[in-house]
Amino acid sequence: MNSHPTAVVALGGNAISRKGEADTIANQFRHTRESLAAIIPLVKRGYNLAISHGNGPQVGNAILRVELAREKAPILPLGVCVADTEGGMGYMIAQSLQNRLLHEGIDRAVSAILTQVIVDRNDPDLANPSKFIGQFYSQEDAQRFAAERGWVVKPDGDRGWRRVVGSPTPKGIVEGPVIRAMVAGGAIVIAAGGGGIPVYIETDGTLEGLDVVVDKDRASAVLGREIGAQTLIILTEVDQVALNYGKPNQRFLSRITISEAKQYYAEKHFPPGSMGPKIEAAITFLESGGEKVLITSIDRAGEAVDGNAGTTIVPD
Ligand code: ADP
Ligand code: MG
Repeated sequence: MNSHPTAVVALGGNAISRKGEADTIANQFRHTRESLAAIIPLVKRGYNLAISHGNGPQVGNAILRVELAREKAPILPLGVCVADTEGGMGYMIAQSLQNRLLHEGIDRAVSAILTQVIVDRNDPDLANPSKFIGQFYSQEDAQRFAAERGWVVKPDGDRGWRRVVGSPTPKGIVEGPVIRAMVAGGAIVIAAGGGGIPVYIETDGTLEGLDVVVDKDRASAVLGREIGAQTLIILTEVDQVALNYGKPNQRFLSRITISEAKQYYAEKHFPPGSMGPKIEAAITFLESGGEKVLITSIDRAGEAVDGNAGTTIVPD
């Protein structure tokens, strides 16, 4: 055990793959290495660290592979695709970080932990799923797959129809105590990747997987609580959170309280599926004992930790 400050760093999608660029493994490794620019300053400041990450494009590709191989290889349920991407991406981030620490002459253990995230089987989001995943289909194909495969399908804008799955609220992390012990011992642990593998607890206490997804920012907040982190750092594409984002009267926020975050959330400044879950995660984390949430870009992470960049959210 040591008395260093503890942080969870949630890496956004752009930390690993970039829109409009081929999603090759070579490119993903390159971006992952670049993204370590945000992690190293925290390591040098003595933080105990857990790192989480998204998996949107990667799990989309995993599902596509399942579809393309339908007649040739066994079908992988969504929960297993999430586990597979958590493993593959965990490997990529862990090895990139191990190599970088070697170059920096820093001796810290690094390990990726497959993380099961507990959700409520009766979560209202499961009855009315809203998270689009996988390819676009014609209405006809989508409805046929719904009948044949038990999918829920809905139109996604005007680009076609897609499968939708639940995105339930994370309640706990099965491996929480293990991750907590490792992080407290100084290891840098990659955990809750892709929001973690969704599971629920049966009446007899056993775990059962669910073919849904958990938002990575919301899972990161729960991870933070479970490992006793004081700080949650959400790294994304923007340097700061804004009011009236993208509008002429846009105003960037440097420091806000939970109450202000709730007020702006209610005023619809933070859309679902992008900034909304980050603000929700911030509120959850701070209301369960966290001291500070930083939302910023990879480039600004070091400055943000020193209080000189990003958006800081604090208790009232
Ligand atoms: P990530 O992969 O990091 O989770 P998202 O695209 O889901 O990224 O969410 C981050 C994006 O949210 C930003 O890049 C920005 O375009 C968008 N966004 C929406 N509302 C806001 C806001 N109020 N302030 C800042 N960014 C916002
Ligand atoms: Mg997101």
